[in-house]
Amino acid sequence: MAWLKSPTAFSHMMRRIGIDADNRRGTSWGPTFLLATPPLVAGVFLLPVHWLFKLAGVALVTLCSVYAAVHTARQLRHRIAEAEMHREYAREMEARSRVDPVTGLSNRVGFEHDLACMMEDLPLGTKLTVMWIDLHRFIETNNSLGHAVGDRVLQEAAERLRANVPDGAAISRFSSDEFVVAAKLASAVKAQEIASALRDALAQPYRVKGHRIESGSMIGVAAMPDDAITQSGLLQAADLALYHAKASGPNEVRFFHDSMTRALARKKEIEAELRAAIQRDELSIFFQPIFDLRTGRIRCFEALVRWFHPEKGELYPDEFIPVAEDTGLIITLGNWITRQAAKAATSWPEHVTLAVNLSPVQIKAPGAALGILAAVRDAGLAPSRLELELTENLFLEDDENTAAFIDMLSAEGIHFSLDDFGTGYSSLSYINRHPFRTIKVDRSFVSGVNAATCSEAIIRAVAEMGRTLDMEIVAEGLETIDQVHSVRAAGCTLGQGYYFSRAVPDFTAAMLLAQEQSRLDRVQSSVVHPIGPEPMHKKAG
Ligand code: C2E
Ligand code: CA
Ligand code: CA
Repeated sequence: MAWLKSPTAFSHMMRRIGIDADNRRGTSWGPTFLLATPPLVAGVFLLPVHWLFKLAGVALVTLCSVYAAVHTARQLRHRIAEAEMHREYAREMEARSRVDPVTGLSNRVGFEHDLACMMEDLPLGTKLTVMWIDLHRFIETNNSLGHAVGDRVLQEAAERLRANVPDGAAISRFSSDEFVVAAKLASAVKAQEIASALRDALAQPYRVKGHRIESGSMIGVAAMPDDAITQSGLLQAADLALYHAKASGPNEVRFFHDSMTRALARKKEIEAELRAAIQRDELSIFFQPIFDLRTGRIRCFEALVRWFHPEKGELYPDEFIPVAEDTGLIITLGNWITRQAAKAATSWPEHVTLAVNLSPVQIKAPGAALGILAAVRDAGLAPSRLELELTENLFLEDDENTAAFIDMLSAEGIHFSLDDFGTGYSSLSYINRHPFRTIKVDRSFVSGVNAATCSEAIIRAVAEMGRTLDMEIVAEGLETIDQVHSVRAAGCTLGQGYYFSRAVPDFTAAMLLAQEQSRLDRVQSSVVHPIGPEPMHKKAG
């Protein structure tokens, strides 16, 4: 029945039996009968001969049959052509649905299809290696320079990938700034070689419409069968490796390792528990005092979140804050922290300020500035008594939103400090660009004081800069009296650390302030301890 499926075969077959369905050649039997029939019918009426009457009947019946056949043939042919056209269209649509229109590479659907094909004939000893690539700061480029420039960057990145993958590799654009490459490779060494080549190619600046765009990439690598034996497992492993690469910063290549799965499981566990903890009120805010190194008085309390798990005991912010940031929970948590801390601060003397840590994720959330203003207003705290601590990583992806956030809150009287200074890029341009009142020198420099003259020189230089720009310089992590002496001599104006006090609950913070006041009353503000009160950590626990 092949003739039924193909219009050409069908026409051919009809012609063989004498019916030209197309009627193109004009030699079919239909017209012959058509021409023969009128004289026959006329003959019947004029000459009523018996055989002629019969012949006319046969001619009439044949004529009807021929017309019916031709009509049906035409209809069939039309339908078959139509079906063929639809099939062609569907094939084209399917092909298009597998391609990313911007770069011409496969999209996720196309890639998964290609990967499945590559898996089917994987020679023994060969590793099907997947490299998941994230372009660094692409979203920022897209937002600031526009989509046309963003598209050019993506196209250029795609070209660089094409030029650096081995023959037979599949390349795809997975999402806005993520590409995935799959290749059959002989060894992990080869994978390393290719990943490094891709990283180096993507690290070159892009030149688009007169702009010089610095980008770079982070790459996660996983291989089958070493890291996974299924397609989804392989992609998950590469994605997890990428997650670790992203955590380490731009131009980082990470190969999947089993420990990454354990870390992910731990993260998921923390996330679930943290959600429950927020509901069950297991979180509280502690306050660590920051002392004025000249007068020895408490100038500020830094709010630090604490989590007392009913079974696991105290969990540390260094462990759960990154999970809260990753999952977006930090937005709810951060608003709650600001609100609670601001409430506690209203009971302190006017000159004592409150410092609250803000994660970049919180700042980028819609309505972040309004949330903070609402928290201080609801608590009844003057905005000028709040200082928000920002870390340098916020400025790595510096965008207009961050500047708008800082400007809006500064206009309301809220102050800003640059936290953990010295651990990141330590670019002085952030200090120049934003109205920071305070710089907190990271404790890694302080613990190096005495041990390394280099750290001391850095603290001295930062303190000097603070003096010139009229900023407060806080030395973090002071644990010994020698460190206190050193940083004070180096020019730091404020100090924080276990030497003075650990973070304490709000009632202990109030007690520290009351003690300070009574001490001041006792000496009637004539002689003040030159370097702050005696160490409080023994008392505060
Ligand atoms: P950070 O903002 O640098 O906070 C100072 C950290 O150093 C605190 O650890 C504090 O307990 C610790 N510290 C203070 N003095 C000393 C010292 O003399 N020696 C040593 N070894 N450590 C000292 P903590 O409370 O575990 O917080 C760790 C980090 O977690 C904080 O670093 C901050 O980045 C983040 N974090 C804590 N609370 C919050 C919060 O409420 N919101 C946000 N977004 N992040 C928070
Ligand atoms: Ca801090
Ligand atoms: Ca800090």
